[in-house]
This record gives sequence, structure tokens and C-alpha cells, in this order.
Amino acid sequence: GKVLVTGCNGFVALWVVKQLLEDGYAVRGTVRRESATPYVKDLFKSYGDRFEVMIVPDITKEHAFDEVVKGIDAIEHLASPFYLTADDPQEIIGPAVAGTVGILQSALAHANDTVRRVVITSSCAAVLTDDPDLSKSRTFDETHWNEHAMRDVAERGRAASQPSKYQASKTLAERAAWDFDVVALNPPFIYGPWLHEVKTAEQLNTSMLAFYNTVIKGTKTPEQLAREGQSWVDVRDIAVAHSRALQREEAGDERIIVSSGPWNWQDFVNAARKVEPSLPAGNTAYSSETAVYHTCFDNGKSKRLLGMDYRTMDEATRDIIAQFREKGWL
Ligand code: NDP
Repeated sequence: GKVLVTGCNGFVALWVVKQLLEDGYAVRGTVRRESATPYVKDLFKSYGDRFEVMIVPDITKEHAFDEVVKGIDAIEHLASPFYLTADDPQEIIGPAVAGTVGILQSALAHANDTVRRVVITSSCAAVLTDDPDLSKSRTFDETHWNEHAMRDVAERGRAASQPSKYQASKTLAERAAWDFDVVALNPPFIYGPWLHEVKTAEQLNTSMLAFYNTVIKGTKTPEQLAREGQSWVDVRDIAVAHSRALQREEAGDERIIVSSGPWNWQDFVNAARKVEPSLPAGNTAYSSETAVYHTCFDNGKSKRLLGMDYRTMDEATRDIIAQFREKGWL
């Protein structure tokens, strides 16, 4: 079958495309800029005509996806803004919601006979509730919804916190998707080696830039390194989850958290220093045995429905550091 992958030049989507091609699917990727096409075409040239790229210039326009859904058997929707510098929250919420609703409407109108499954890349941002008290541990599951971010944005608008603006965009987009028959995948922070076009470290996507600044540049205090963190998943595992979400009957109509486990930044620092001892040591008094992991997610459903078996932090970190080294950014 042929799978449509939106925003296919992004950090996560390129791994999704690669996994689908490896699993035997044909893939039609979308990008919003013509200038993004040569790089992705070149990346997957060994797959010949099983990979093609189409341009959707503005995902917020009605009927934006009408042409690209034609003849498609399944959809993986990833195009959505992920940055933490928006002024007006609508800057992020607008494309997140309109893109999600738009692709579902286009699929119903123009590919209803062929599309068997639609996977929406939601986020644990749509699940968790931020809590400034980092001294206690909380575990979220698929029954939880991020009410807090939506309230923050509704009440404070532009003055809402940056995480709230992004989290509200993912919550509202996923809510809108549930008016249709979809699979929602909810990953926490995604890290790992990257395939996308990055000429300087500053061009890394939001999650990997945070990793670079914290672990390589050492921008956080020892206190922050020991207390700040969340949960994470390897980008290659989230790609596997996207492919299996198409293959497994039982995933249909399900919301699935795809998380490897919790972390505090010092855990990544320690994992990185195992392979690159010259990196900043951070908090040398930290112990993972006694640390508090304040944002945990139950990943049991992902194991049951998708058969997930997660890569370890050591493996992910080793591969990330190797890529930074290769780039000369250490
Ligand atoms: P990237 O920034 O690397 O990729 C985002 C993709 O979406 C790019 O193709 C980008 O296009 C496209 N896009 C962004 N804004 C718009 C817009 N307004 N109109 C059209 N296209 C747009 O991000 P990630 O790969 O990290 O994220 C991919 C998906 O995964 C998103 O849905 C994100 O919410 C989700 N996610 C990511 C996590 C992470 O830690 N990275 C964690 C949980 C969920 P362009 O290159 O042209 O800007």
C-alpha cells in the first residue's frame, strides 16, 4: 500500500518514512516548501519510485490535502508546529488544529474508498499536566488529558507560558481528531540521531536542540540538571510505532502513549559522558537511585497493542554523541 506522511522533512517524519520504506510500503511525503524536496528525495533515492514528494504550501487552507490524499491507503499526520517562541498562541494552535481537521476531511471526501487507517502524531503534551512542584512523582496514562494548558491559553492568551501554547495546540488538535476514526500516538520528548537537513546545531529541531544545549554546551545549573526532565523515547522507536499502528488491527481507534521512560537531564549527561568523558560533568552528587522522576507515563498499552520494546538511554545517547562528533560539534 501507499502511505501519506505529512511534514516529511521533519526530524520524526523522516524516520517514519524510512521505517515504512523498510517495511515494504510506498510513501508519498508532503513538504510545504519546494526547497525542502531535493534533500529528502536524495535521502531516499535508493528506494526508487516507492518514494515521492508532493507540496502542500499551506496546511491551514481548506481542501489543502484534497489532491495528495488521492489513491492513498493510510495516513501518518506529523506536520505541526513545534517551537517555544510563539507570541500569539494561535500561531501554533491554528496550523495544528486546521492541519489535523483538514487532512481528515480531505481523506473522507477524496480517499474514503482506499484509506484504511489514519495515524495522528499527538504528544504526551496532550496528556500531562505541568506542575511546578518537582518534588513528587506522577504517572500519566491514556485516560489523562492536558486541561491545564488549554486553560492557561484561554485565560492568559499571549501571556500564557510557552509550554502551554505548544501543549494546547497538541491537545486541541488531538481532540479534534477524535471526531473521526483515528489512531493517536502520544510520545513524550523524542531524541535520537537525526536524518533531517541540519547545517548548524542551532538548526536542530526543538527537542534535539534542548539536548545539544544541555548535554553538550552545559547550559543548565547542577540543580536544574538533577530536577528537570520528563520522559523520552528514541526517534527510531517512535518510527516503529507509526508503522505498527498501520499493521495491527487492535491499534484501531486507540490512543497510545509511546514512551521509553522518565529522565532527569543529569541521566543524559551521565550517559553521554560514558562515551565522551570530556563533556561537562554537571551534577556530580546526583544519584538516579534516589532521584525523583516527576513526569512518568504508563507505556503498558504500547507494549500490548504495538509490541513495543524500547531502546535504552545508553543506546540512544551513544548514537546521538557519535553524530555530534561526526559533525564536529562536540
Ligand atoms: P520538526 O520541527 O522537525 O518537523 C515539523 C514538521 O512539520 C516539518 O516538516 C515542518 O515543516 C512541518 N510544519 C511545522 N509547522 C508547519 C506549518 N505551520 N505548516 C505546515 N507544516 C508545518 O518537528 P518534529 O519532527 O520534532 O515533530 C513532528 C511531530 O511530532 C509534530 O506533530 C510534533 O508535535 C510531534 N512530537 C514531537 C516531539 C519531539 O520531541 N520532537 C514530541 C512529541 C510529539 P518545515 O520544515 O517547512 O517547517
